[in-house]
Amino acid sequence: MEASLGIQMDEPMACSPLCDRFQEEGSFKNHEQNFKLPGVKKDIEKLYEAVPQLGNVFKIKDKIGEGTFSSVYLATAQLQVGPEEKIALKHLIPTSHPVRIAAELQCLTVAGGQDNVMGVKYCFRKNDHVVIAMPYLEHESFLDILNSLSFQEVREYMFNLFKALKRVHQFGIVHRDVKPSNFLYNRHLKKYALVDFGLAQGTHDTKIELLKFVQSEAQQGSCSQNKSHVTGNKISLSGPGAPKELDQQPTTKTSVKRPYTNAQIQIKQGQNGKLMKQSKSVDVLSRKLATKKKTISTKVTNSGVMRKTASSCPASLTCDCYATDKVCSICLSRWQQVAPRAGTPGFRAPEVLTKCPNQTTAIDMWSAGVIFLSLLSGRYPFYKASDDLTALAQIMTIRGSRETIQAAKTFGKSILCSKEVPAQDLRKLCEKLRGIDSNTPKLTNDVKGPASNDPTFSEKTDHKAAHLIQTPQAQLSGNSLYEGDSNGGCGGRFTTYTTSLEGWDEVPDEAYDLLDKLLDLNPASRITAEEALLHPFFKGISL
Ligand code: ADP
Ligand code: MG
Ligand code: ZN
Repeated sequence: MEASLGIQMDEPMACSPLCDRFQEEGSFKNHEQNFKLPGVKKDIEKLYEAVPQLGNVFKIKDKIGEGTFSSVYLATAQLQVGPEEKIALKHLIPTSHPVRIAAELQCLTVAGGQDNVMGVKYCFRKNDHVVIAMPYLEHESFLDILNSLSFQEVREYMFNLFKALKRVHQFGIVHRDVKPSNFLYNRHLKKYALVDFGLAQGTHDTKIELLKFVQSEAQQGSCSQNKSHVTGNKISLSGPGAPKELDQQPTTKTSVKRPYTNAQIQIKQGQNGKLMKQSKSVDVLSRKLATKKKTISTKVTNSGVMRKTASSCPASLTCDCYATDKVCSICLSRWQQVAPRAGTPGFRAPEVLTKCPNQTTAIDMWSAGVIFLSLLSGRYPFYKASDDLTALAQIMTIRGSRETIQAAKTFGKSILCSKEVPAQDLRKLCEKLRGIDSNTPKLTNDVKGPASNDPTFSEKTDHKAAHLIQTPQAQLSGNSLYEGDSNGGCGGRFTTYTTSLEGWDEVPDEAYDLLDKLLDLNPASRITAEEALLHPFFKGISL
């Protein structure tokens, strides 16, 4: 096959190809031999049509990922001399914002290609179709391997994740979507790759030029297009023990009926003890035009004065609905706070969930902490929340409501919680969920997730496992944060694994110390990637 490789497109674009990163070989599921579904075949044909120059270089074999914003394909290419190379082709949805695309590409070209950060080989464009060609890394499904990983593998996984995060953070990139499906892991080759900079943002001193533009552009966009952002600085949680009027929400547009019945959360913004309210946090920063359209249509609209921070709230706009579950008309006329928000609710840091406008690389460390929590507890997803307020409530059940409230104060957010939820001991929690009994220091059974919406759970769970899992759930429902949440609440899917005992009977305190420092509710004191790599938990692993 002929290959004059490099960026191939019919118009110039702000990216430059980097040289080969790593070449994959052996021990892979053979995608070529997969029987292609008719839909996949059609998609591949369409891609060849949309970006014809791909056909000169690649044989597209299969579709390996399909998300809201992209489709990823496995292709092979005969490059110069040597064997066929496997390439991942990420086809971005045509409605993606050009700056957003260029920024994603720049993250890959500038920061990628080393330290477990995915690199890029080429980029193709035809009209509004952009395809990013990356080295292909065959990877495991996190859920499939979660409970068969040895403790040593978990250590290595986390170490390599921090290596990747240290790298991107050094470039002033906040990834903002750190989760297992964006951190590819090849267990056999012990290779790792952080992918998907589709939501990335720059720190104030970012070295990725286009990220500077992404942030301002997106924020400007959201300000001009959405004249209805809610200023959210106050959050209140209420359970069944809370006053009855909770269930008799005022007949305002903002008495949002949430999918769960026993938790009511409101966000308020206040100054000098006087507070204003909003009803629901809203996505402000959309990564793509498509998302923007979607979020606009789903958000609760308030109107009022646009303001950037809580401190700029004019005193004339205070009201008397503070600490009640009502939203008064003054509060209904508030503007929404503009704060970047992205990612998957279950992985979002408290400062993201409460829409703190100053978000740093610390948000990625929180997400890494949630991954670590899954690895230590054997539950994935650990937090399963359909919206931010549910996610925040779930965090409280693990980290404590008082602690969460205190931390939120440090970044200018007030949270009201009608019932106190104690913080949990992380070791006890993880051991319970993993099925390690303190009396019998070994695994008692396959680990089960308590997702209430998974029909297989009730079928397969045995009494012992059910008992183990009920403990945190009872606690949760006692605090009424999850009960009735049709979205499953805090839980993971039930799966059966060959559990590896290796190391799990003696998880060192350092593991939970690191977890505690990652799940630090206060972003200012949360451990950084660089510090995490030096944590005693990783003693003996070298960079
Ligand atoms: P999206 O923005 O749609 O989430 P991602 O960049 O995360 O797109 O890619 C989606 C999926 O495609 C990933 O979760 C992964 O399974 C697969 N994928 C992406 N890049 C690669 C790659 N370089 N090698 C192998 N698989 C990849
Ligand atoms: Mg992704
Ligand atoms: Zn009010």
